[in-house]
Amino acid sequence: MSDCLFCKMASGEIKPDVVYEDEKVLAFRDINPKAPVHILVIPKIHVATLNDLNNGDLAGLLLQTVAKIAQQEGVAESGYRTIINCNSDGGQEVYHLHLHLLGGKKITSPLA
Ligand code: 5GP
Ligand code: ZN
Repeated sequence: MSDCLFCKMASGEIKPDVVYEDEKVLAFRDINPKAPVHILVIPKIHVATLNDLNNGDLAGLLLQTVAKIAQQEGVAESGYRTIINCNSDGGQEVYHLHLHLLGGKKITSPLA
């Protein structure tokens, strides 16, 4: 999608601080980190929200990538939290599916 921020990152038009990339997935540091490790993992194809993710292989790949990056960032053992915000009540601000990986400190949330 031409006017989607994360599509521009996936295509290389905008260059975020990339921590992982393969053919289908890109991961980069959040510009406004809420924890010492705060990384966003996105599919390279445009998927607006979790409601639009109809590809189980891609869903699995995104989750496996989160776990791989947690290892890479050294937080796999100490722990981390993965969040997907969906639509307005879920707090989604960027309408290109992304998984937040938060770690490096105790992560608080409404679920505690
Ligand atoms: P959401 O609320 O949609 O789940 O999260 C969007 C996230 O994207 C936010 O944590 C925000 O800080 C991050 N973000 C927004 N614009 C940019 C940007 O230009 N670069 C990077 N690296 N992160 C961004
Ligand atoms: Zn997009």
